[in-house]
Amino acid sequence: MQKWGLFAPGPDLLHNAPFLAKLKKAFPEYVERAQNAQVYARQIAKDIILPKSLILDEICAMDPAYVDWELWKELNRKKTSICMIPEALGGLGWGFLDMFVAIEEFVAADVSTTAFFMFNLFGPVCAFVEFKPEICLSMMRDLVSAQRRDEPLFFAWALTEPACGTDNLNEDACRTQKPTFQVTRVEGGYRLNGIKHFISNGSLAHSMLVIAPANAANPLESLACFFVPAKSQGFSVGRVEKKMGHRAKQTAELIFKDVFVPDENVWEKPGRGWRHTMEVLAVSTGAVGMLGLGLARGSLERCIRHCQATTIKGRPLIEENWVQIAIADMMAKIMTVRAKLLDFAIGADALLVTRILDKPLVKAALNILPEKLLLGQSLEALAKSPGVSELVSNFKHAQVPDEVVAYFKAQGACVKVAGSDLAMEVSSRVLDIVGLEGAGHAFGMEKIFRDAKATQIYEGANQVGRLALFAHELGDAAS
Ligand SMILES: Cc1cc2nc3c(=O)[nH]c(=O)nc-3n(C[C@H](O)[C@H](O)[C@H](O)COP(=O)(O)OP(=O)(O)OC[C@H]3O[C@@H](n4cnc5c(N)ncnc54)[C@H](O)[C@@H]3O)c2cc1C
Repeated sequence: MQKWGLFAPGPDLLHNAPFLAKLKKAFPEYVERAQNAQVYARQIAKDIILPKSLILDEICAMDPAYVDWELWKELNRKKTSICMIPEALGGLGWGFLDMFVAIEEFVAADVSTTAFFMFNLFGPVCAFVEFKPEICLSMMRDLVSAQRRDEPLFFAWALTEPACGTDNLNEDACRTQKPTFQVTRVEGGYRLNGIKHFISNGSLAHSMLVIAPANAANPLESLACFFVPAKSQGFSVGRVEKKMGHRAKQTAELIFKDVFVPDENVWEKPGRGWRHTMEVLAVSTGAVGMLGLGLARGSLERCIRHCQATTIKGRPLIEENWVQIAIADMMAKIMTVRAKLLDFAIGADALLVTRILDKPLVKAALNILPEKLLLGQSLEALAKSPGVSELVSNFKHAQVPDEVVAYFKAQGACVKVAGSDLAMEVSSRVLDIVGLEGAGHAFGMEKIFRDAKATQIYEGANQVGRLALFAHELGDAAS
């Protein structure tokens, strides 16, 4: 009997990550929440995501703009897109550890569906990184009330443009990039002109955060973040891409023609966007590493089942020594990379923004104050009053200083490279084992091979991730 994986007889978090047993002694609530997240996510993965994975891959190959709204509703009722919002406000109250543990389960079933709903977390993540109370409160209120009304509320994060994308992962590359997206200062705000492309859920988004430099000759020092509702005049959706993998998650071209962004929707003014972007990327690259791990595990699980069910010359394939060695080899790599990914997630909970949500005072306030007050307009109005917003945001920046963000960006690059490269390695190797017959669409391994490639590319290509890691850890060695 397989002790781990989607069809294991019981939860296996402590089996897979024994160091958590020690942590549990010191922080029982913290580890129990992650154990519960695994159970919750595994059930969703098995019952809701897995049964539709292959059929959606086929439908979306023909129609890249297709959305299975029934599936979306089932996932919405499980609160997947508000999982990071505190429980007292209606969410699941997950931190990074819970989220990473859950991502592995979801992705082992299907990465495209996971990316479809989890990439909406860019909304709360960007708001928490910003930590201006009026932004956080309105983001949480809108997401929670949409979830309760069973209505979609999509958010996109638009950084990549035709002339540059990856460059934003590395300081030197960002400094020398040649952006074509134009940002012009006008009275009362800014005008945006140009194209952002390959934007996840961009075609479905109700609002987005656009990251772009205000001065193309000096991108690093002039990077800014603009909150843009999709109903803004001049905004439209272009092509929805036909993709090799990740088909059930739409990726679209976004067109901006003289889109006006009022000053109140400028989340970060020109010159302050780099730090925001790095903090978001630190988390999102880490999460992509976990997508990679989930893909590797999902691929190996399918391979094991196939080898158990297939006989060659009268013997089950799983009984061949060469197969056992190959499987053990892949398991060893998965176990090793998982340990680093969970280390990243626990470190992020300890040092990045979720540490503030876990502070006893914040927790007590969330538990004592009624939800109506917390998510109501009056608290939001107070949060907007001069000084309050700045004060709270500055407090957060002091709690999460620049050095910590730079450190986590390097750590994020490390786990993204390790997880996504492993996804590619394992998904390719299992196809060698199962051969042509096992590579048929119906077994899912071929799909995972196609899905894996994108994780090496998005959130910054792995080559630039490597350069970012080198620059942080050994930058001086090259000068
Ligand atoms: C499925 C999918 C979803 C996506 N979702 C989003 C999203 O939601 N939001 C968003 O903003 N973007 C998104 N993207 C875009 C993605 O982040 C970019 O494709 C990625 O960062 C790579 O950038 P690029 O395509 O511009 O490649 P390029 O930057 O053109 O890179 C091409 C090649 O050149 C190399 N290279 C580039 N610059 C350097 C350098 N300075 N030094 C060394 N080598 C370099 C790269 O490593 C790569 O090999 C998505 C992409 C995909 C495929």
